[in-house]
Formats: sequence, structure tokens, C-alpha cells
Amino acid sequence: MPILVVGSVALDGVETPFARVESVLGGAASYFSTAASLYDQVNLVAVVGSDFPQEYLDFLRNRPINLSGLQVEEGKTFYWSGRYHMDMNSRDTLDTQLGVYADFHPVIPDEYKHSPLVFLANIQPELQTEVLNQMPHARLTVLDTMELWINTAKAQLTEVIKRVDILLLSEEEVRQYTEQASILKGVRHLLSMGLQYVVVKLGSYGALLFGADGTYFTAPSYPLEEVVDPTGAGDGFAGGLLGYLSTVETDAQGHYAVDDIKRAVVHGNIIGSFVCADFSIDRLRTLTMDDIAKRYKELVVYSHFDPTWRPVHL
Ligand code: AMP
Repeated sequence: MPILVVGSVALDGVETPFARVESVLGGAASYFSTAASLYDQVNLVAVVGSDFPQEYLDFLRNRPINLSGLQVEEGKTFYWSGRYHMDMNSRDTLDTQLGVYADFHPVIPDEYKHSPLVFLANIQPELQTEVLNQMPHARLTVLDTMELWINTAKAQLTEVIKRVDILLLSEEEVRQYTEQASILKGVRHLLSMGLQYVVVKLGSYGALLFGADGTYFTAPSYPLEEVVDPTGAGDGFAGGLLGYLSTVETDAQGHYAVDDIKRAVVHGNIIGSFVCADFSIDRLRTLTMDDIAKRYKELVVYSHFDPTWRPVHL
């Protein structure tokens, strides 16, 4: 089942306490497409400038990623740069230049319109809305965003949240958006806006899943000895989540089983862990389904505990 994604395709500059790279392939939609294309076909909607390197276009084209919806416009590609702190979980944004995104309006090619799964990756909320308006028959819609849009476009973001099925946010973003110190209270507020699920990403600690039906599930992260660059881990997470869902059946009403949503969150954590192992999308270039299956099995062992314990009453 093909997955449609709209989001940034960017050139990134990244600085960690240990290394630095400049103008590498980045952007939420790049990470997402590279990850999700391990599972199924991705239909990409984005824009790049005339400075976008041919080598990156070729990389995307050589995967099961449809580029009919990728516009190439005269001007500069979206540019983002950030610097990580020693803990490699928190970062400062140093620069954001929208470039050709400033005048971009997504146009969904006819051949994309049957995509049952839609991922609205991080981009201006108005553009996410424009995509939803062109995809009235989507089966599952998933939304991501970031601090910048919570601070500068909250009303527009609220309109998109009300129209999607699943929202992905970091713990900090839940607090910023809902203005609640408690994640549980914040998530309750978000679910009251009509979402089916909220996924709270905890960086190197994993992710939490909350359902409107009362579902609560906690998925541990895969333990990494070395984090090279966490940029794009959230977008890779979304790629694993939607990628996995593209491979399973829904019920007759088009709903996914809760167990599949839980497995999808585990796939998200696994792909996120691989993204962190190198700069840009580099670790994903050689990633295989066998690598994913190996980490899946390990995570089952790491998070399983004995359900038969009973208290001994003295
Ligand atoms: P993540 O680490 O998952 O938050 O994703 C980082 C990616 O998001 C980087 O590759 C950036 O190019 C991209 N990005 C950063 N800021 C923005 C923004 N304001 N809008 C869209 N994409 C962005």
C-alpha cells in the first residue's frame, strides 16, 4: 500500500560535540521516504531548489520513491542547521532558511491520490492542510510538527490536528502545545480534539502510545552504544511506523488492530535507532529488513517481564 508524504527535503548542517557535516541530505520527508521505502512504495510531495545536488536526487530515485510530486524550482533548497549538546538528546537550531518552501504549494499528482496512508511530515501547517484537502479518501492520516510551528502557527496547527488520526509529538512538544506540565493531562487534551492515537516520542528513551479507546503502551528504545547524529530520528520513526502499517491488513471498516499500532511503534523505535548511527540518511542506505527483524527480536527480550508474579501474603 503506497504511502504519501509531504514535508521538507533539505540540506542540513549538523554539529555534534564530536563532528560536523555541512549541506548533507536532510529534511523530514527525506528521512521518512528513505525509511518507509524499505517497506513499500512512497509517493513524495516536496520542493527543492536548483542548487539541490543531482547525487541526492539519484539516491531517492533509485529507491521505491515516486518523485512525480517533487517540484524543482529556481532558488535555494530549504536549509537547516543545528548543534547538539553533550547528551545528544537536546539541540539548538542555529539557522532555518525556507528557500523555495516560502512560495511552495503542494500539488498532489493524480497517480498519488489513491495512496491510503498519508504522512504530513514537519512543514508549515498550512501546507499540511493543503495536502489533506487534496486527499479526502485517505485511510490513515499521521501528523508530525515541531516547536517552530507550535510557537508561530498554533491556530493553523490546531486545524490540522483536528483532521488527522494519529499525532506524533516529542515530550517537550506536548508540554509546549498543551501548556500542561503533566504529559498524561496534555495527551488527554490532545485526544479530546478527535485524534485516535497520540504517540509521545521520548528521544533516547523510546516512545509512549495513547489511544482514544484507553490504550496505553510503552515501547523502549533500542540501546545504542554510540549516537553519531540523532537528526531525523523522529522522521525515521514515522517511516518505520507507517512503513510497517503499509504491510498489514485493516478490518472491514478500514481500522488497524491495536496490536498492529503497537508493533508499528516498535518499528518506529527501531528505525529511529538506525538513523542515529550515522550522519544524514547514511545508515539507512544499507539497512535491510533482516537488520530490522534482529532488533525487533532483541527488543521483545529486553522489554518482556514475567506476568505470573503474585504477592505472597504473610
Ligand atoms: P528531527 O530530528 O526528526 O526533528 O528532524 C530533523 C529534520 O527536520 C532536519 O533534517 C531538518 O532539515 C528538518 N527541519 C528542521 N526544521 C524544520 C522546519 N522548520 N520545517 C521543516 N523541516 C525542518
